[in-house]
Amino acid sequence: MPDQVRHDGVCEVGFVTTSKFKECNMNPTIWQGRDRLILDGSMGLSLKSKGVEVPTDIWSAHALMAAPDVVRELHADYIRAGADIITTNNYSCTPYYLKRRGIEDRMEELTTLSTRLAREAVEQSGSNTLIAGALPPLGGSYDPGDVQDAATSNPINRRIAKALTDDIDLVICETMSSIAEARMTAEAAAETGKPVWLALTLTDDDSATLRSGETLADTVAAMKGLEIDAWLFNCCTPDAITAGIKTLKTLTDSPIGAYANAFNPVPEGWTLEEGGITYDEILGVDAYETHAKAWQDLGASIIGGCCGIGPDHIHRVSGMAAQE
Ligand SMILES: [Zn+2]
Repeated sequence: MPDQVRHDGVCEVGFVTTSKFKECNMNPTIWQGRDRLILDGSMGLSLKSKGVEVPTDIWSAHALMAAPDVVRELHADYIRAGADIITTNNYSCTPYYLKRRGIEDRMEELTTLSTRLAREAVEQSGSNTLIAGALPPLGGSYDPGDVQDAATSNPINRRIAKALTDDIDLVICETMSSIAEARMTAEAAAETGKPVWLALTLTDDDSATLRSGETLADTVAAMKGLEIDAWLFNCCTPDAITAGIKTLKTLTDSPIGAYANAFNPVPEGWTLEEGGITYDEILGVDAYETHAKAWQDLGASIIGGCCGIGPDHIHRVSGMAAQE
């Protein structure tokens, strides 16, 4: 329905049915008439499996510095696996991580490098894969108590958003653990003029609440006035996401997406940077495909993978495996 949607996402159809309203909420430059989009999977574990050291203190930033060719190669793996969208590898290019090595001044350089590597992978593939530029948490992931105030966060988010450059197709705010964090990050994303996707991380149970304990109803209400092109859940268990989709479906007509972890449920107070978490050994490609199908049946139209989900999982959920 591209001709019925203005670029600002406002629907111009006179009589709007529920399904038509949903189509009007689908940004035509991203969806290009498709009814489902596949994202990529994890970088951390997948880089490790390619022999790249991924230290927990600055993990993805280290890969950019030490093995940019492997980062590009992993992007290419995901494109071959059927990803319609790959995400820049700048998750840890924030002062929170970089200061541990005394390299905060390299934030913009490394962020821009992450976009360049993704773009090179797309160009070398000859595909029309899109690139999502990541706006990560600025403090410890999963730690809503570590979210800083707007005066501190806004300038950093803006610097990262600018360093992602105009060479991205959309901005994805990832692993947002509280309303305050989601709102500040989405505002910086919106300033780029690109479509904004907002990915929330949920407690690893069936409560459908952010890790802050805040509800999805309050979260959606708090984003009022901001144009969120898609709502996603990431970096939590598949079952937590299933509960989240059921609730979110009652709150928005915009596209909904999911990219889960293969971690076992994490203890309360644990943060992503601590490491040492165990993986759910049974979350192989068959089990992940079952979750992905359930999410789609519940109305999710964007599917990918987060920590521990690799190219094999994406290959399966993209449907490419079935065609071979
Ligand atoms: Zn994750």
